[in-house]
Amino acid sequence: MSYVEVTNLAKRFDSTPVFKEINFTINKGEFITLLGPSGCGKSTLLRCIAGLNSVDNGSILVDGEDITSLPAQRRGIAMVFQSYALFPNMTVTDNIAFGLKMQKLSSDEIQRRVREGIEMVELNGREDHYPHQLSGGQRQRVALARSLVMQPRILLLDEPLSALDAKIRKNLREQIRLIQQELNLTTIFVTHDQEEALTMSDRIFLMNSGQIVQSGSAEEIYTEPADAFVASFIGNYN
Ligand code: ADP
Ligand code: MG
Repeated sequence: MSYVEVTNLAKRFDSTPVFKEINFTINKGEFITLLGPSGCGKSTLLRCIAGLNSVDNGSILVDGEDITSLPAQRRGIAMVFQSYALFPNMTVTDNIAFGLKMQKLSSDEIQRRVREGIEMVELNGREDHYPHQLSGGQRQRVALARSLVMQPRILLLDEPLSALDAKIRKNLREQIRLIQQELNLTTIFVTHDQEEALTMSDRIFLMNSGQIVQSGSAEEIYTEPADAFVASFIGNYN
């Protein structure tokens, strides 16, 4: 059995469908990149998996459990956004601890996990800084740590690197991949950047107009594109 099973998932806003029949499975610990042009439905798909959007049809199973109708906070799924979404009036430590406090963990446990999170994303020395005192890359590290300390079953990353400049992007993407592998954390990483997809992923899901048009390793997709869309989209690489 696969760790994540998405079957016949459908989502529309009013009468406009974003997707009608999304099907895929993901193994435990896999790093999946969801790649596709702007507006094809990537963020909506992640939001449906996270429970931030409802779905109109289909099911989402994680580790055999049907989570399709569970509230977001009970899914064990963490999401990182392009815009960081940090609390501006809280320090790095308090931003990372926030979700743990909501879970009513002991203060020892919270402290231990926050320390671990800070070390994982290499923010040592920044504990008492506020978001406005940090660079974009550092802010995204705080957002990543905030997700990791929740010990999620699945990590969803919605274009977490898109607002950063090239060098920081490359650095952070390598670090995300290292952490993910070390934790064996099942991850869906969304991007519209072909190079990120081709260099980071165990498998790529190529999405266009609300459909996953091809899934496979970077090599498969690069050498055997399923159709003209995939060929031209991947062909933009370089
Ligand atoms: P992507 O992340 O691939 O750029 P999105 O999932 O954000 O795509 O959007 C897919 C489609 O759904 C777009 O046509 C977008 O306008 C529409 N959409 C997204 N969110 C909403 C919403 N809250 N209400 C209405 N339409 C939406
Ligand atoms: Mg998006």
